Amino acid sequence: MPHVVLPREILPTDGRFGCGPSKIRAAQLEHLVGPGASILGTSHRKSPVKNLVGSTRARLAELLRLPVGYEIILGNGGSTAFWDAAAFGLIERRAQNLVFGEFGGKFASAAAAPWLEAPDVRKAEPGTSLVAEAVTGVDVYAWPHNETSTGVATEIRRVHGDEGALTVIDATSAAGGIDFSVAEADVYYFAPQKNLGSDGGLWYAAVSPAAIERIERIAASGRYIPEFLSLKNALDNSRLQQTLNTPAVSTLLLLDSQLEWILENGGLQWADARTHESSQALYDWAEASEVATPFVANPADRSPVVATIDFVEGVDAAAISDSLRHNGIVDTEPYRKLGRNQLRIATFVSIEPDDVRQLIRSIDYTLEHL
Ligand SMILES: *Cc1c(COP(=O)(O)O)cnc(C)c1O
Repeated sequence: MPHVVLPREILPTDGRFGCGPSKIRAAQLEHLVGPGASILGTSHRKSPVKNLVGSTRARLAELLRLPVGYEIILGNGGSTAFWDAAAFGLIERRAQNLVFGEFGGKFASAAAAPWLEAPDVRKAEPGTSLVAEAVTGVDVYAWPHNETSTGVATEIRRVHGDEGALTVIDATSAAGGIDFSVAEADVYYFAPQKNLGSDGGLWYAAVSPAAIERIERIAASGRYIPEFLSLKNALDNSRLQQTLNTPAVSTLLLLDSQLEWILENGGLQWADARTHESSQALYDWAEASEVATPFVANPADRSPVVATIDFVEGVDAAAISDSLRHNGIVDTEPYRKLGRNQLRIATFVSIEPDDVRQLIRSIDYTLEHL
């Protein structure tokens, strides 16, 4: 495909705008080869790595302002493993799953396990969202805080259904980038390779006392639960600052460095203001453009961390992202299965708002010259 050569003065300082794995800041990489150098390649059962696990848990607890009784637990396998772990060890009989994109849909599939009742799956068109509704017999209400495939963010509000019903939120792309009250959720889980700018392979979850009680009760119920997917096992190991099997130590180091940076800058409020500044620049630009428009029609649904921008027929978004890629601006393609004439741009906390403004100049230049 033909491509435009962008003038240097309009290029972002860093061209990574992908939604995951996402930009890792240079300071995090320096942390890997600096303080991390003596920890990488050492035993995960000894204090240096255990202290590192403990540090990520403590910093997440601070970042999320955990209420008394909540704990941070972790395990291997990323958010996808967490869905299966939840089917085994968190859903007692039936889940309600809100689906308005790929990731919500994947948890709904995992919740359709043969030992559970068929989940109450509620679907909305991609680009919109919907709200959970209390239903008798449902014991887990689940939806994504940010649907990464479409760029829709949701309100986190506890569902008051049956006594003991849990509100379970997939925060994989939202965690650390959108302010909210964790007291409104019982489980707030995520993998760290998105807004938290680390690498893949782990999942973390903030769990409420009610969620801990549920995990322990199901584990003691006699239900078959594979060791690797046991949340009880994850809970017990997390309290000992370890995982069942070997974690990616570099993922831990990159995460710890990122958490320290966010906390030093002012925590979740600061991160939220920064992601809003970046995403709003894109939405304002698209609103004003004659060829572009925000994919998410309702401004209240628009994500602060993943901006999806549609283009009119006659402008080929794939050609724009391809041309940008030739200039080192990468991963602006839309979520593959969404199949839209669209750019999808991460505005995670690691991404400089000035770089987003440069990206907009770069897109404008590409539109004029392609
Ligand atoms: C990326 C993503 C996932 C999948 O995470 P993995 O660590 O790759 O399993 C799940 N949910 C959301 C919202 C995501 O953005």
